[in-house]
Amino acid sequence: VRVDTQSVVGVTSYPSSVSQRYFMERLAEEIRGMGLTPRIDAHGYLVVALPGRGKLRNGSKIGFLAHVDTSPDASGKGVRPRVLRYEGEPVRLEASGEELSETLYPSLARYRGEDIVVTSGKTLLGADDKAGVAALMEALAIWSREGDTEARHPVRVAFTMDEEVGSGVDFFDVKGFDADFAYTVDGGEIGSFEYENFNAASAHVRLWGRVTHTGDAKGKMINALRLAFEFDSFLPREKRPEETSGYEGFFHLHNLRGDCGEAELDYLIREHDRDKFEQMKQELRRAGETLSDRYEGVRVEVRIVDSYYNMGEIVTPDSPAVRLGLKAIREAGIEPAVQPIRGGTDGARLSYMGLPCPNLFAGGANFHSVHEYIPVRSLVKACEVVLRIAASEE
Ligand SMILES: [Zn+2]
Repeated sequence: VRVDTQSVVGVTSYPSSVSQRYFMERLAEEIRGMGLTPRIDAHGYLVVALPGRGKLRNGSKIGFLAHVDTSPDASGKGVRPRVLRYEGEPVRLEASGEELSETLYPSLARYRGEDIVVTSGKTLLGADDKAGVAALMEALAIWSREGDTEARHPVRVAFTMDEEVGSGVDFFDVKGFDADFAYTVDGGEIGSFEYENFNAASAHVRLWGRVTHTGDAKGKMINALRLAFEFDSFLPREKRPEETSGYEGFFHLHNLRGDCGEAELDYLIREHDRDKFEQMKQELRRAGETLSDRYEGVRVEVRIVDSYYNMGEIVTPDSPAVRLGLKAIREAGIEPAVQPIRGGTDGARLSYMGLPCPNLFAGGANFHSVHEYIPVRSLVKACEVVLRIAASEE
């Protein structure tokens, strides 16, 4: 975690930071040291393929992915991880003096009596997703010692970049990866397993009003900023992020700017159900039509671009990826916690690129923040689940 692999928003080169490439080289070196043959492609993705004579019913090859970049939301520079035995007392973060407590984070209580890794308080930890990277590196080391074996299916491991800025699989070669299904090892706390996520789109709304002198505005002026407020008022109050949870979708207004003549609004649209998702996009377009019908001479433009879709349409509960994943978690002595993701994953996009790809826990908590931590046992279990999936006897 000491290598700063923060990804950067708004950069056109790939990956968005050279440190990610540097980190990839170091991983490749370590993997070569295991006697395996990693390949770094032109875009920087690292891929390792291992043989195995184990046979799933349909002879499937199984893939595992983790991303090397860390979130731009908190610094990843000079990470100083500290391992300590957690006994239930608040943990003081050394550099900032802030405290991690069960009052703030009730799920900490699950880890009483365990070793946990915390930050100095000045940076994130980078367990998202270097915990996934670590779990897969350990699995690779174990597999390399096993060699070609009947006890394991053929596996493929890939390390990706720029997940946190939404470009994790932009150039990923699904065909070359040559897996029938895969897992991102990028989930949260121990046991979590995810195969449903939001359908997502972004909407850009532009409104043109009518500008006149303020002293002479009566009956003439149409203030674009007021049009913007009115536009937003057409969207249901109960469909806002701060009003929703679980499977409930939302419109998130995240940008509003303009002047009397012209205004712009930006929305995120999120919804698990595909039909409802399409309806919400219609709702937004209708809001635009209502406005332009209401005021003569007002122009409204609504542009909607889909971002990603719910992998649940492809990765169904009876698909091999889900069955093997849940079975392996149970065999590791953990009760799976299956939850719909209120966001997206690289696996969601991969699923629509032809590689069904649920998300497996990597063990960490409080991602993207200086309060990030990971219990050591959770990380060990993440690796164990990966090994069990690869050796599944189905
Ligand atoms: Zn992640």
